[in-house]
Amino acid sequence: MDRLERSDLVDVDHFPCGCLVTTMDRKVLFANQYFRDYLGWDPASLIDKPIKTVFSRASQLFCESFVIPTTMHQGRCSEILLYLLNSRGEQVPMLANVRCVPNDTLTWVFVEADNRNKLLQKLEATRYALEEQRDQLDQLSRTDSLTGVSNRRELEAVLERLFKEADRSDQPLSLLMMDIDNFKLINDSYGHDAGDQVLCALAKVLQSVCRETDVVARLGGDEFVCVLHDTDLSGAQVLADRIMAAVSKSADAPCAYTVSIGISGRTRLFSASSGDVLKFADKALYDAKAGGRDRTAVQLPAYMQRPGRNAVRHAS
Ligand code: GH3
Ligand code: MG
Repeated sequence: MDRLERSDLVDVDHFPCGCLVTTMDRKVLFANQYFRDYLGWDPASLIDKPIKTVFSRASQLFCESFVIPTTMHQGRCSEILLYLLNSRGEQVPMLANVRCVPNDTLTWVFVEADNRNKLLQKLEATRYALEEQRDQLDQLSRTDSLTGVSNRRELEAVLERLFKEADRSDQPLSLLMMDIDNFKLINDSYGHDAGDQVLCALAKVLQSVCRETDVVARLGGDEFVCVLHDTDLSGAQVLADRIMAAVSKSADAPCAYTVSIGISGRTRLFSASSGDVLKFADKALYDAKAGGRDRTAVQLPAYMQRPGRNAVRHAS
């Protein structure tokens, strides 16, 4: 590039940052309007003046010892904090970028350090807000909007993980699949809003009966699933009985209701896939409904069955 002409610099006159062009022996060739608007200098009065006119004493020394040697050696020096002087002699912190343009010219660009810090703080705050929104959206995408328990999507994700963990540690894992009895009748008799309240009341019961490490999910409609961590089938049966007892006393529901529960799981001795366990809990739920509702039933895949295992029990 040839020597910079003043006509090349017309465009930078109104840049929102300070632009300065100097010779190698630090004489000002050009200063843009920023020096007038923000620092109170008449740009024309700076021409041919030594650059130290606009630098604090410490910044002059820093420029001579570091900034200019680095720029000459590497072609540029970036993001340096320098203190410029305004026309009243006050120091103004600026971030400087200096470049060596061929044919003995240095270009200097100054940005107010405070403004940059404010901008960085704003960017940081925006990033936090976006991360928070992302977390909220993530939470919403995994939650059933009516009851606040996990939705089907989240259940599918955690089932995979829990079954892998149970396989690794050889722990039992049980699954309860339940469905409200004659829920259509509740909607028809008491209205849809009352039906919604029953769904929320059941979700509350399940959350209060299950442990923190268990997963409570609404599959859709009036169907819910509880995945019981480190719990064998007899433990699952105890929990199912507790759920039925709590449902019968649930003060949160606007009317009496009952549920049917299908139980399945993997045991210490027999591993089973999450798909199989879901399928057999569903079959067990069907048995409980077919057996007259308001009861629990257990179903296991054939390879896990022992005599007397598949039994339907009425809630006591
Ligand atoms: P069963 O004992 O065989 O389960 O009989 P049921 O009447 O409960 O039959 P089913 O489980 O098939 O009925 C589910 C009903 O749930 C059908 C639908 O009208 C109702 N439903 C689905 N989602 C909602 C909801 O978000 N709110 C309300 N209030 N009702 C819902
Ligand atoms: Mg139902």
